[in-house]
Amino acid sequence: MMADYPMIPPEEALRIVLEHTPVLSTERVGLKEALGRVLAEELVALEDMPAFPASAKDGFAVIAADRSVWRRIIGEQMAGSTTGVVVEAGTGVRIMTGAPLPQGADAVAMVERAEEAEGCVRLLRRVQPGQDIRPVGQDLAAGEQVLAAGTSLGPPEIGLLATIGRTRVQVYRRPRVAVLTTGDELVEPDQPLGPGLIRDSNRHALRAAACWAGADVVWSGHARDEERELCRLIVEALEETDVLLTSGGVSMGQKDLVKPLLEELGSVHFGRVAQKPGKPLTFATVGEKLIFGLPGFPVSSLVSFELYVRPALRKMQGHTRLHRPRAEVVLQHPIHHQPARVEFQRAVVTEREGVYWAETTGLQVSGRLRSLVGANGLLVLPAGRAHFDSGDVVTAILLDRPEVEEITGQ
Ligand code: AMP
Ligand code: MG
Repeated sequence: MMADYPMIPPEEALRIVLEHTPVLSTERVGLKEALGRVLAEELVALEDMPAFPASAKDGFAVIAADRSVWRRIIGEQMAGSTTGVVVEAGTGVRIMTGAPLPQGADAVAMVERAEEAEGCVRLLRRVQPGQDIRPVGQDLAAGEQVLAAGTSLGPPEIGLLATIGRTRVQVYRRPRVAVLTTGDELVEPDQPLGPGLIRDSNRHALRAAACWAGADVVWSGHARDEERELCRLIVEALEETDVLLTSGGVSMGQKDLVKPLLEELGSVHFGRVAQKPGKPLTFATVGEKLIFGLPGFPVSSLVSFELYVRPALRKMQGHTRLHRPRAEVVLQHPIHHQPARVEFQRAVVTEREGVYWAETTGLQVSGRLRSLVGANGLLVLPAGRAHFDSGDVVTAILLDRPEVEEITGQ
C-alpha cells in the first residue's frame, strides 16, 4: 500500500534534499583532471615567486643613480640563465624580460627609451631605483596562502598549481550518477516508433544535465513498467553510484511503481512538491545514496533536476555556492498561471540598461521540451496569484547569461 504523500513547499523540499546530501570524500588528482574540481586542502607557497629580482621589460640593466651619459654595454642577460657580469657606474647590461637582474644593477631602462651606438647605450629618460624590476616574492611570498581550501579550480588556479610545483592536489571527487528511465512506451532514439510509443529523451537529457553539473554518469538504463524488472535495475543502478536519477513512474497511475519500490529499498523523504512542473517529484535515500524520482514529462524532469539535483551534486563536490542567482525581472507580456502551486515558467531574460526583461518561451506544458530551448531563466510565479500584467516585476532564477553577438557598451 502506497503512503499518502503530503504536498510540501519547494523550499522545504530543497532543504530536505540538502540535509541528506553528503559532501563526498576527496581524492588526489593531476593537473589535467583538476579543472572544475573543488580544492580540499589549503595550498601555501614554499618559495618566493619570482625567486630572483627579474626584469619586467626588454632593455638595459643599469644603476639608477649613475649619471653617465653613455654606458658601455658589458654583457647580455637572457631569461633562464645567469651571467657573472657585475654592473658598475658607466656600464649597463642588455637584459630580456624575465631575466634575473645582474649584480650591481638596481633598475631597468626599457629599450624603447634608450639609444644605442658603438657598443654603448644612452638613456632617453632617467630611471628610478627598482624601475621595471619585479622584486622577489612580488607574485607569491614564501609562507603565503596561494589557494584556500574550497576554491573552485579554473584556468588561473590550475596555472597557480603549476607555478608552485604542485602537480597533484587533493580535491573532492565527482558524484557517480546513474540514470534509469521507466516506461513501456519508450524506445531507443535510433528505433522506429510503433503505435503509442515515444523515444526516450529523458535518459539523454538527464545524462547531459548531470555531466554539466560536474557528475560522472557511470550507468544508464531503461526499465519497463514491471515491478521485478524495475526493482532489479534500481538495485543494479545503485551499486556503483552516489546518486540515482529515475524518470517517470512517480505519478498516480497504476503503472507508477517507483514510489512503493523506493519505500521498500530505503526511506522516502517526500513524494509530492507544491510546484509546477514537477509535482510528483520524489526523494529517497538508501544509506548515503540519494535517489531522485523525477517525473516523466521531459520539462518536469529537467526543471526538477535544475531545482533540486544540481544543488545536491554541487554540495557533493565540495561547492559551498550551490544555487543559481536570482533577479527581479520585468514581464514583457501578460502571464496567466494556475495559482494553486508556484510555477517555474521558462523564459528568455535579457538585460537592457541595467534592467532585466523577461519573455516566456511559448506554450508552457510539461511535455514540450522546446519550452526549455533558449531559456536562460525560470520565472518564479508564486502561488495565490493568477494573473501578471505586462510590466509587472517577478523573480527569476537565472540559469545562464548567454554570450552576445556583438559587443555593445564599454
Ligand atoms: P510518467 O511520469 O511515467 O507517467 O510519464 C509521464 C509522461 O512523460 C509519459 O506519458 C511520457 O509522455 C513522458 N515520458 C516519460 N518518460 C519519458 C522519457 N524517458 N523520455 C521522454 N518522455 C517521457
Ligand atoms: Mg511512466
